[in-house]
Amino acid sequence: MVFHAAGRPLRLEDVPLPEPGPGQVRLRVSACGVCRTDLHIVDGELPKPKLPLIPGHQVVGRTEDGRRLGVPWLGRTDGACRYCLSGRENLCESARFTGYDLDGGYAEYVVADERYCLEMPEDYDDLQAAPLLCAGLIGYRSLWLAGDPERIGLYGFGSSAHIVAQVARHEGRRVFGFVRPGDDAAATFALELGCEWAGPSDEPGPEELDAAIIFAPVGALVPAALRALAPGGVVVCAGIHMSDVPSFPYELLWEERAVRSVANLTRRDGEEFLALAPRVPVRAEIETFPLEQANEALDRLRRGEIRGAAVLRVE
Ligand SMILES: [Zn+2]
Ligand SMILES: [Zn+2]
Repeated sequence: MVFHAAGRPLRLEDVPLPEPGPGQVRLRVSACGVCRTDLHIVDGELPKPKLPLIPGHQVVGRTEDGRRLGVPWLGRTDGACRYCLSGRENLCESARFTGYDLDGGYAEYVVADERYCLEMPEDYDDLQAAPLLCAGLIGYRSLWLAGDPERIGLYGFGSSAHIVAQVARHEGRRVFGFVRPGDDAAATFALELGCEWAGPSDEPGPEELDAAIIFAPVGALVPAALRALAPGGVVVCAGIHMSDVPSFPYELLWEERAVRSVANLTRRDGEEFLALAPRVPVRAEIETFPLEQANEALDRLRRGEIRGAAVLRVE
């Protein structure tokens, strides 16, 4: 399924079988998760995708010798810049991202640099494993950057929050779900996943929070989440794109509150999270679509109609 221009649907096309270069493997894809980042790409909200592009960066597939590997968003780094040399390859100056700079997994085959592929835990089938690769991984990194909160609020209850809620509960944290006002289905989902409270995102919750993670791409949630924080708390913005953040009084940031973002992942995040997921155990709730219905999956995600994570099945 190939992306040619913003605002136009992906096109089902026959393309040449990709040939692996040095250090690369070719995978026969079996599942690929659909991420909100894919939606930002096809809607033209991210500036410079490769064109034409095969999207998809939560790819599970098999090598020709039968090994199952996952291909995440971080496709390649230079290993040499100041960020790579200081344990922050997620910020690499010449990083290349799967399904953005490199063709991804909305396809029958993908090639990937083997050094950035991840071994997938055996506890999960391919469809269940796919959302772990970004929804899970970026969620895990966001949770790490949230510090050690007793009370954590999750804003936007989509694929990432539904996994993070399970991890945070496993770590003994108290979890509060903040959903779009009036979205009763999302509130119910949040409660089923172990949140002790779920309610509208435009008001503070029943107690102050020690941290909040914003998954929804809505800048107005930044001051809303700051308003919900206790002194010293942090707001973590987990998405790659967000509408503008409205101005807010300094008082909301005062008392050592902080706002920060999360960008990409390191391979270490991947290894740590994929080792942790079966111990939680994380159970991804998925809705599957055949590959050729990628546009439908993206439309459903755009309309907020996916419960949990959308995953493309590649037969
Ligand atoms: Zn680098
Ligand atoms: Zn993603």
